Amino acid sequence: MKNEAIVALKKLLNSPKNIVIISHKNPDGDAIGSSLALGLYLKAKHHNISVIMPNDFPEFLKWMPDSDSILIYDYKTKICDEKIAAADLIFTLDFNALSRVDTMQHVLENAKADFVMIDHHQEPDDYARFTYSDTSICATAQMVFHFIEKMGDIHLLNKDIAENLYTGIMTDTGSFRFRSTTSTTHRVVAQLIDLGVDNAKVHQNVFDANSAQRMQLLGVALQNLNILPEYKTAYITLSQEELDAHSHKKGDTEGFVNYALSVKDVVFAVIFIEHKEEGIVKMSLRSTGDFSVNEFAKKHFNGGGHKNASGGRSELSLEETVSQFIRILQDYKTQLTNAK
Ligand code: 5GP
Ligand code: MN
Repeated sequence: MKNEAIVALKKLLNSPKNIVIISHKNPDGDAIGSSLALGLYLKAKHHNISVIMPNDFPEFLKWMPDSDSILIYDYKTKICDEKIAAADLIFTLDFNALSRVDTMQHVLENAKADFVMIDHHQEPDDYARFTYSDTSICATAQMVFHFIEKMGDIHLLNKDIAENLYTGIMTDTGSFRFRSTTSTTHRVVAQLIDLGVDNAKVHQNVFDANSAQRMQLLGVALQNLNILPEYKTAYITLSQEELDAHSHKKGDTEGFVNYALSVKDVVFAVIFIEHKEEGIVKMSLRSTGDFSVNEFAKKHFNGGGHKNASGGRSELSLEETVSQFIRILQDYKTQLTNAK
């Protein structure tokens, strides 16, 4: 973010404003953590804050400080529309294009407020008056920390803000193990722990809250694991029937794709999840090293994200999507077998 932008934002935030903070559909730990942290920080600066998510978020994030205050657009559309209409400023966090807010896209496109984007995804769209985009940073939550730093407000951080930031960074870095985790990340996290974050407790709240049904669904996913050694690729499928048989809830399949990526010599992993009602197959794509799943998802499956973690979708059936995927893989054989 340029210095002039910081100066302008400091000036804007000098007097109380109506501010809406929004993140992407199917919000994850970073979407929720970065939004709540920014919201709590701006509340401490005496602004009127509404944190809005397009749809509901998983149970394992509902302990997060101030998460009770989140408005879900799907459930409270009218109130959310009013908040957006009355907003002076709208912060959009952890996404790079307005299409990522799903049913909220239209209302955001027509909003009068100035937009501030804080995001770490590739190829950010140009809709905001102020854009803070950095694809090298592991989590939007870390960017919110840097944003507060740039605003000269580190002294306003407290345990609740720190817990939200910690959760966002922890979830987006796979517990600090992905390549995007830097020494700066660890320095930021050290400061969050000094503010009172109980790192073991946060980890437990997020990762040790599994239901038996979810663990059994993981069993099904692992049974459905397919390895394509000639492409250094592994994939998992989950049909609607398999999801229903395990009373599937939002967030239950989070992280399953990483088991496919953990297979020796695999550099590219995908999970295909059938959503019968919406008539789509949702894909999560992961890679290690230089193979870009962002490019792959964008080119073939109407998606995108980061170089090593992206999402996509298909309107074909589950079986047809997998066949199409395997056909497309043939064009990437050299790239995949040479991938480091
Ligand atoms: P996940 O596979 O965990 O849903 O998403 C991985 C990453 O890709 C996240 O950063 C997410 O925001 C992004 N992502 C997921 N689905 C889509 C999509 O349909 N389009 C784009 N552009 N990004 C996506
Ligand atoms: Mn993120």
